[in-house]
Amino acid sequence: MTEGFKPTELTITFSAKHYILSAGAIHTPTILMRSNTPDPHKQLGKTFLHPSLLSGAMFSEQINGHSGAPQSIYSDEFVWQDGAAGELGYKLEVAPVHPVLIASKTIGYGVSHAQLMANFNQMQVTIALIRDGFNEQSPGGQVRLTDDSFALDYPLTEGFWRGAKRAFLSMAELQFAAGAKKVLPMHDGLNFFDSWNDAKQGINQLDLGLIKTIVASAHVMGGCAMGEDKTQAMVDSYGHSHYLENLSVMDGSVFPTSLGANPQLSIYGIVARNATALAQKLTQSS
Ligand SMILES: Cc1cc2nc3c(=O)[nH]c(=O)nc-3n(C[C@H](O)[C@H](O)[C@H](O)COP(=O)(O)OP(=O)(O)OC[C@H]3O[C@@H](n4cnc5c(N)ncnc54)[C@H](O)[C@@H]3O)c2cc1C
Repeated sequence: MTEGFKPTELTITFSAKHYILSAGAIHTPTILMRSNTPDPHKQLGKTFLHPSLLSGAMFSEQINGHSGAPQSIYSDEFVWQDGAAGELGYKLEVAPVHPVLIASKTIGYGVSHAQLMANFNQMQVTIALIRDGFNEQSPGGQVRLTDDSFALDYPLTEGFWRGAKRAFLSMAELQFAAGAKKVLPMHDGLNFFDSWNDAKQGINQLDLGLIKTIVASAHVMGGCAMGEDKTQAMVDSYGHSHYLENLSVMDGSVFPTSLGANPQLSIYGIVARNATALAQKLTQSS
């Protein structure tokens, strides 16, 4: 067990009329699993991540991607291009370029990495968020308990890698069209491409795969899905548990799939609606 998380002798008991669980898409399901909440249809812990690809671009002028309103430009052109059941779509965004965020996600080591970071102010980064959870090529992941913690298993399918390749192509084309001098898909062992034609050829030949291709995620969704059908959901559309009368879940774990868009505002919206409805119900029944 991790130092700092050892149980103490202290036991605290909370007693409330109604409980709200808001521990996020990983911890809400793990708390429910550890509490032996009924889960007859094995729905707990089905998790979606928007696994994301990154493409760096160098401009001759300063971009200063660390400054200004972050992520204020995006494109939904490719999110639903092939429908929900078809090839996986992706949302394009221009991510904030913060030094630590970028240093940990760019490729190369030692001198080559230092050279990349030396041109930090001329670097632009586009990201592609793959929407997951809509067909067998994007089943999402599964949170499970381990002896002293938890784990998330998230398989990356052939369909995902096909989507990743299309996303790298779209990002490179976009970056060159915007005036980039060089483009670097974040995949180990690659050098910058100097033109869209070279990039198109090079990316099409890339052998994408685990570890060598950088796949990131900041959007954890699902794990305690909402819905009226108990075979597919743990809580109803208002976040009320299907199994425990005095429990509601209010966080990003209630999404039954990924969203294909940044989740925070949808979480705010759904929680505002459900918390208001719960408060009214509890006040009326008291
Ligand atoms: C680097 C980064 C950038 C992001 N950028 C964006 C963005 O630009 N736009 C956007 O829409 N979204 C963004 N997101 C995603 C967004 O932050 C999350 O989707 C959102 O915060 C999830 O809300 P939540 O309420 O489900 O969970 P959380 O915000 O994770 O809240 C869960 C809370 O529960 C607490 N908790 C967990 N377990 C326990 C426990 N056992 N006991 C007590 N407390 C516990 C946690 O400490 C946490 O405070 C970003 C995320 C990251 C990491």
